[in-house]
Amino acid sequence: MAELKRIVKGMLLENEPMSAHTSYGIGGPAWAYITPRDTSDLSEILHFANTYSLPTFFVGSGSNLLVADEGIDGLVITLGKSFRKLEISGNKIYAESGVMLGHLVKESMKQHLSGLESMIGVPGTLGGALIMNAGAFGGEISNCLINVKVMTLSGSINQYDAGDIDFSYRHSTFKENEIIISANFELKEEPSEMISKNRNIASKGRKINQPLRFRSAGSVFKNPKPDLAAGYLIDKAGLKGTHCGEAEISTHHANFFINHGQAKAGDIINLIRIARKKVQEKFNITLDLEIKTLGFPKDVFQS
Ligand SMILES: Cc1cc2nc3c(=O)[nH]c(=O)nc-3n(C[C@H](O)[C@H](O)[C@H](O)COP(=O)(O)OP(=O)(O)OC[C@H]3O[C@@H](n4cnc5c(N)ncnc54)[C@H](O)[C@@H]3O)c2cc1C
Repeated sequence: MAELKRIVKGMLLENEPMSAHTSYGIGGPAWAYITPRDTSDLSEILHFANTYSLPTFFVGSGSNLLVADEGIDGLVITLGKSFRKLEISGNKIYAESGVMLGHLVKESMKQHLSGLESMIGVPGTLGGALIMNAGAFGGEISNCLINVKVMTLSGSINQYDAGDIDFSYRHSTFKENEIIISANFELKEEPSEMISKNRNIASKGRKINQPLRFRSAGSVFKNPKPDLAAGYLIDKAGLKGTHCGEAEISTHHANFFINHGQAKAGDIINLIRIARKKVQEKFNITLDLEIKTLGFPKDVFQS
C-alpha cells in the first residue's frame, strides 16, 4: 500500500466502504478506492497494478452495481470525479468517461442536438453507460457513438470505432481489462420542440414507472424479450413486496429491488435467487442479470 500511495497523484482511499459509492448503498470495503488525477496518473497506476498482479476493477458511479458485503480485495478505479471534460462543436461531442450521462444529455439538448434525450434520468457516468449500452424509451447510448478511447492494463491507449464493438440490449463487447477514458459522438440537429417532446415522454414515463424515492440499481434483470418484461414475470409470480432483511422487491416495479436502509448484499442475492427460481418454475424462463456484481464467488447464485 505504501508504494501505491506514493504513485497515486489523485485520490486514494484505503479500506473504503463501497456502500458509499453504489446507488444501492451496499458493499464492503475496497482495499484501495482510487480516483486517478489524469491519464498519466491512470497509466502509472495500471502499470503498477499489472506489474504486481493486483486485482483491478473499474467502476463508474455504481448505479448498476451490487458489491459483496465482504468487499473487494484489490484496486477499484473510478474516473467519475476526474475525467469530466465535455466539448461540443457543431453536432459533434467529445466527452470523457467520468461525465455524468445526465449532464451529457442536458448539454446536448441545449445545442438542439437529438439522440440522447430519451436517456434523461438514467443515472451514472458515460463510462458505465457505454459498458452497459444504457438506454431508455427507444434510445441507446451506442446509437450516436463514433469512437471510444480505452486504456489497457499496461497503460497504453487504444481507440475503437463504434463498429469494432458489438452493442446489444444492455450489453457491449468491450474488454474487461480495458478502462474507457473518452468517447466521441455525432448527433442530429433537430427542432427543440421535438427534442423536448421526446425528453418529456421519457421523463414522465420514468417518474410513473420507477420507485425513484428508494435506493436501487435500476432493473435487476434483463427483459427476456422486447415485449416481455422481467418485472411483469416477477409480478405474475406473486413476488412484489417480498422481503429479505431490509431489501424488498418493489411493490411499484417488480424488477427494482430496494434497499430500505440496512440491506446487505446477501439480502439482494437471496431476492435474486427467489425471483429466478419462481419465474423459472412458473414460466420456464431463465432471467439473466442486468446488474453487474463485484466481489462474489462464482457460484453465488447456486442456491
Ligand atoms: C433509479 C435507476 C434507474 C435506472 N434506469 C436505467 C435505464 O433506464 N436504462 C439503463 O440502461 N440503465 C438504467 N439504470 C442502470 C444504470 O444507471 C446504468 O447501467 C448506468 O449506465 C451505469 O453507469 P455507472 O457509471 O453507474 O456504472 P457502474 O454501475 O459503476 O458500472 C457498470 C459497469 O460498467 C463498468 N464500468 C464503469 N465505468 C467504466 C469505465 N470507465 N471503463 C470500463 N468499465 C467501466 C463497471 O465495471 C460495471 O461493469 C438505472 C439505475 C438506477 C439506480
